[in-house]
Amino acid sequence: MSPRRNRPRRRKKNDRTRDDESALINRITGGERYESGPDGEWAVRRISGSAAVKTYRCPGCAQQIPPGMPHVVAWAAFGDGEDRRHWHSSCWERRTHRTVRYSRHYPGL
Ligand SMILES: [Zn+2]
Repeated sequence: MSPRRNRPRRRKKNDRTRDDESALINRITGGERYESGPDGEWAVRRISGSAAVKTYRCPGCAQQIPPGMPHVVAWAAFGDGEDRRHWHSSCWERRTHRTVRYSRHYPGL
């Protein structure tokens, strides 16, 4: 009902071009999208397999994300990018929907 909500949000672009990895990710993915989770708002980018050239540790399951595996990188939307984390795509999805009991709805998982 509030017309003010239609105004698009503007974000400072130069915040995230400070380090090379951010610039690289930005170039690969063409930017991020924003998701609201139970623990705040997150900036999220999807990394393709060919763009994944390093091994990361997923905070969702504490397993490694090997080079070549498509995955997700996320950080606090209003932070400075210092808390950026690489997640398995499935772990990220589970995290943002963690109140949902996947094991009940999808017994195969
Ligand atoms: Zn994981």
